[in-house]
Amino acid sequence: MQNYDLLIERIATSAGIEKEEVERKVEAKKAKLSGLISKEGAAQIIAAELGINFEDQDLKIGELMAGMRKVNVVAKVINLFPVREYSKNGREGKVANFVIADDTGSTRVVLWDVNHIALIEDGTIKEGDVVEIKNGATRDMEIHLSGFSEIKKSSTVMDEIKTGAVTNEITLVEARQGQNVRIRGTVVQVFSPRFYHVCPECNKKALQEGEAYKCAEHGVITPKDKAILNFVLDDGTETMRIVMFSDQIALVVPEEDLKDEAKALAFRDDFIGTEIYLSGNVKTNNFFNNLEIIASGVEKVDVENLIKELDA
Ligand SMILES: [Zn+2]
Repeated sequence: MQNYDLLIERIATSAGIEKEEVERKVEAKKAKLSGLISKEGAAQIIAAELGINFEDQDLKIGELMAGMRKVNVVAKVINLFPVREYSKNGREGKVANFVIADDTGSTRVVLWDVNHIALIEDGTIKEGDVVEIKNGATRDMEIHLSGFSEIKKSSTVMDEIKTGAVTNEITLVEARQGQNVRIRGTVVQVFSPRFYHVCPECNKKALQEGEAYKCAEHGVITPKDKAILNFVLDDGTETMRIVMFSDQIALVVPEEDLKDEAKALAFRDDFIGTEIYLSGNVKTNNFFNNLEIIASGVEKVDVENLIKELDA
């Protein structure tokens, strides 16, 4: 919510209109696009329609959205990673990245330019420094700096920073244990749902004793079934098993449907091939000794429809 509120305020101030009017325009735009776009996305379209460009202003991290091309921010480096070397298609290069934070949030910055990377290698920019970035571009939710971007140390003092869980928009091959990630990929395999018994009162796992089920707190109970749904996501770099519990399952199919074999199969056929944005936490599965993601959010990518609606 906070990103959105900040953005609405900035649009209102920049355009010299009331916040409520901006909100009305956003709602109207969303309605016109049949709800296929997020409020944040609609707000970005409204900003463009009002002729607002963010190039001349410093933005807060909380205001950043995917697809911005000339972003200026001032923020504190809170986590600096070692410079990495890569070789791809016969090209060798270096890439550096760090996390910056201000009083609205944190985000990852990726440096591709050797001159920028040198500032890290020679210690000019270190953890705890406040940096000024000009002309960055947001890719997913990271800020990427090219040779056209600028970065320098700032004398701005920044005491209050917000260092929430950083969500890494990365590829599956880069995913590491413990990270919160957001990944765009395609569902390539869906396993049969599994069920476990929980106490209807407290939703904790029910223990079977002979024929009866017991809850540690509520005694003998008639348990209810909760589903676990596993599927495999492929983002072009790697495939990974995704684990979904009730709350996330509800985002893609009514949980009850999974208890009906025909409906469960119909869902499976429909879900395979679907492109999604998946948020979750990367965990090591000790049984298979590999990484899997415990889903915390699932959102279908509906690019084609969105483009069609935008053109209409
Ligand atoms: Zn209970």
